[in-house]
Amino acid sequence: MKKEFSFYHQVRIYFGRGEVDNLSRLLNEFGFKRAIVICDPFFKDKALQMAKKEKKIKAVFSDIKPDPQLADITTAMQVEQTINADVVIALGGGSAIDSAKFVAALKYSSFDIQEYYYQKRSFSYTKIPVIAIPTTAGTGSEVTQVAVINHNDEKRTISDKAFLPFACIVDSSLTLTVPPKMTMICGLDALSHALEGYWSVHNQPICDLYSKESVKLIMENLETAFDNGKDIEARDNMSYASLLAGLSFAQTKTAAVHACSYPLSIDYGMPHGEACAFTLDKFIEINADERLEELSRYAGFSNPLEMTDEIKRLKKKAELKTTLKDAGVEDIEGLAKKCLNQPLIKNNPKKITLDILIKLFEGLR
Ligand code: NAD
Repeated sequence: MKKEFSFYHQVRIYFGRGEVDNLSRLLNEFGFKRAIVICDPFFKDKALQMAKKEKKIKAVFSDIKPDPQLADITTAMQVEQTINADVVIALGGGSAIDSAKFVAALKYSSFDIQEYYYQKRSFSYTKIPVIAIPTTAGTGSEVTQVAVINHNDEKRTISDKAFLPFACIVDSSLTLTVPPKMTMICGLDALSHALEGYWSVHNQPICDLYSKESVKLIMENLETAFDNGKDIEARDNMSYASLLAGLSFAQTKTAAVHACSYPLSIDYGMPHGEACAFTLDKFIEINADERLEELSRYAGFSNPLEMTDEIKRLKKKAELKTTLKDAGVEDIEGLAKKCLNQPLIKNNPKKITLDILIKLFEGLR
């Protein structure tokens, strides 16, 4: 066991079916008076209904698309200014939550948003709080200090304590409408977080516990949630697994799987979780060691390779992209070079070289 580690966590977590109905209680308890809801278009009606019931909600911004753009965040900030919000409620998947984090963190900033995007300037700690309400079970964004934002053809993961939500409400009933393929993509995103949180060079014992339990729950529940989206118990377990995986990688950071997912998303248009799943089983093979053996056994497999077989089966079942041909990749070396340039690659426990990446992608022809 590692004898030295640090663990920082400040997000209040409210978990449970129907917990979203207690939002007013939370707003009252902490004395918030003017809230803006930043939400996924799918939840526009729900957000408007919430605003009708709860008068402290003064504005709803629902124009957040998947892989959010900096320009949309600028528009959301303008809407926020019209009501001078004292809290931002994020209702949606990772895209809505990450956008809300930016709006809240930049509330009192007078500088160009691009200075923060390119991290030329630190975020101010005089921000307003975010209450994150995830509607997918995948990103764990509700408990991370990370925001993944796109600007033109660039996708950046920006990490800053200013992004940590004040609270999150994890209510699995909000995930019942996620379509099967998206359910699988999000579930494999959470699985990537759990595994990378476990094997990152920054791994530590508390996160090991979260990761192991998360992998076990995902392996036991993801297929059921995919087959029957209305299975609330499977949805509960997936929301919990995603939360645990978020708590894990929030401390340890992700590694090579996420590093490779960025060029696959930006250049080949793969949704984030699908891009992670694309190389996940390959990195399990690369990183297999005694610790991973132990995790596999905890999750119900006799060894890591058996776990990779299950991941491959799930990807096939959901018709996710599994080959370079499916993904439209022709220039293997070009892709490998871009993956190697991603900072997160350094967090992988085995040193990743260009040769390893080229061999990995050749194995996905
Ligand atoms: P998303 O927020 O991009 O949403 C994907 C699609 O699902 C959208 O079309 C949306 O309308 C739909 N959707 C969301 N909830 C739904 C529901 N309950 N019912 C029906 N449809 C629903 O998806 P995501 O996977 O949650 O988030 C992906 C984003 O999060 C990416 O930008 C990724 O890079 C980022 N991310 C952030 C972190 C972090 O820690 N901040 C971690 C991982 C990923």
